[in-house]
Amino acid sequence: MAKYDCTKCPGYCCSYPAIIVTKRDSERMAKYFGMTVEAMEKKYIRSAYGFSRIMKRKKDKYFNKICQFFDTEARRCTIYEARPAGCREYPGKGSCGYYDFLTFERDAQNDKNYVSTTHHED
Ligand code: SF4
Ligand code: SF4
Repeated sequence: MAKYDCTKCPGYCCSYPAIIVTKRDSERMAKYFGMTVEAMEKKYIRSAYGFSRIMKRKKDKYFNKICQFFDTEARRCTIYEARPAGCREYPGKGSCGYYDFLTFERDAQNDKNYVSTTHHED
């Protein structure tokens, strides 16, 4: 059973600079939005860090920037059914390093809402 609870996390993994979108992810997203792959990619995808397809991002109060599809108030994915494979698989091994860190800090600081503002620079 997973040792983390994404509903108690501000969505750190969605703030990664390179959320990779595969060709298949692109096709799924295009279908979800009722758009052509070309139009969807033009609107939502960019190339950077050596990847041809990664998610565009937007501003976020905690992490500086976060995936464009993240609801920054409700702190959740807004395209859950159409999210890329990488988002489905993450964090993978039954535990999440960020969640472990959050749990540790929340206990240590006796603040169940503590959020680490660690963020990545573009
Ligand atoms: S960082 Fe970990 S706990 Fe937080 S949303 Fe991502 S997978 Fe879930
Ligand atoms: S598509 Fe959804 S799960 Fe994936 S990074 Fe964006 S907001 Fe997070």
